[in-house]
Amino acid sequence: MSSFRTLDDLGDVTGKVALVRVDLNLPMKDGSATDVTRVEAVKPTVLELADKGAKVLLLAHFGRPKGKRYSTMSTSFVQGDVEEVLGKEIMFIPEVMGPVVEQSIGILRNGDIGLLDNVRFWPGEEANDPEFAKGMAAHGDFYVNDAFSAAHRAHASTEGLAHHLPAYAGRAMEAELKALDAALGNPEQPVAAVVGGAKVSTKLDVLENLVGKVQHLIIGGGMANTFLAARGVDVGKSLCEHDLTDTANRIMDQADHAGCTVHLPYDVVVAKEFAANPPSMRICNVHEVASDEMILDVGPQAVEALGDVLKTCRTLVWNGPMGAFETEPFDTATVALAKTAAALTEGGSLTSVAGGGDTVAALAHAGVKDDFTFVSTAGGAFLEWMEGKALPGVAALTA
Ligand code: ADP
Ligand code: MG
Repeated sequence: MSSFRTLDDLGDVTGKVALVRVDLNLPMKDGSATDVTRVEAVKPTVLELADKGAKVLLLAHFGRPKGKRYSTMSTSFVQGDVEEVLGKEIMFIPEVMGPVVEQSIGILRNGDIGLLDNVRFWPGEEANDPEFAKGMAAHGDFYVNDAFSAAHRAHASTEGLAHHLPAYAGRAMEAELKALDAALGNPEQPVAAVVGGAKVSTKLDVLENLVGKVQHLIIGGGMANTFLAARGVDVGKSLCEHDLTDTANRIMDQADHAGCTVHLPYDVVVAKEFAANPPSMRICNVHEVASDEMILDVGPQAVEALGDVLKTCRTLVWNGPMGAFETEPFDTATVALAKTAAALTEGGSLTSVAGGGDTVAALAHAGVKDDFTFVSTAGGAFLEWMEGKALPGVAALTA
């Protein structure tokens, strides 16, 4: 991993203005946040800078205003939630540059925190307009990026600012980059990847990147059906992308050449209808799926064998559930494998890193979210990293 500067590299910041990119795009209902995980994630960085005497200006987007000011998308809506999590009052500043920002900085005392308005109100943000970035940079002494979840976007506040101010990774960004490096950048081998979820089509780049990097590729979820079909298995009326069987075969060939073992389920849980505990549910070998049945989860024998694979590995990277985990009992394989991974992590033999919207929900459902080495809530940025892409927001910090 190319190195990046962290808060440890900052000198005395007393009275200096820190422009801190954070993710405050909180899920909202009836005017208040339903989940403040993102605020909790940036709390250490924000408070560390405040405690060191900096004037901290939080910079974030909120919704998709597409370069126009909408009162319904002001970051002032999350001010209360941010104050509650930080345990501190903060000042809302309804601009991102100009005299209002300058005056507000004058009012802030050392250690105070200001919240700038939605940076996406200005078209220069998503266009990554250097003039716009320069305008914001003029108010700050240094820039801290603590929003890994936005690092796959080359926007002014996520990338551009790093070219105009000394740039540092915040604590959350630092932890994320270290975990991702331990999982795929510079992992202890052997490495296993679990890739599940609904469709192959959304994870082609992930699969192609992984086959060259891991020793074991464990494929589950709906996408396993496409791989099984590619191997000539009749998957009945399972979710399956029949037009991608050639692609699946190509990925399996690439894996072969790279010395990566692809693990597909050999027993599965099937049902005639997709509902909770359907009477038609049964466990069978993949070669015994009837034409009116669909595969909804990986079977118990396969799960046990996959657990044994994990026992031989030092590193695990996981994206995508093994089955339709939202509906019982098709969460069984995901929960069981997640618990095995958690136990191995606790036992010290496995470094486990997971990410993806549904994956995080599935691990929380399994009760092991805090038992993995690292769980990324970054969504799109996590997937692009799994695809092996350079993230502009990260590249700007490591340049
Ligand atoms: P993530 O958000 O973690 O990247 P995905 O969005 O790719 O994960 O996939 C999650 C979805 O895949 C879940 O909604 C789950 O119900 C679905 N899924 C998993 N296995 C199956 C299956 N066998 N049949 C249909 N849907 C499945
Ligand atoms: Mg998803």
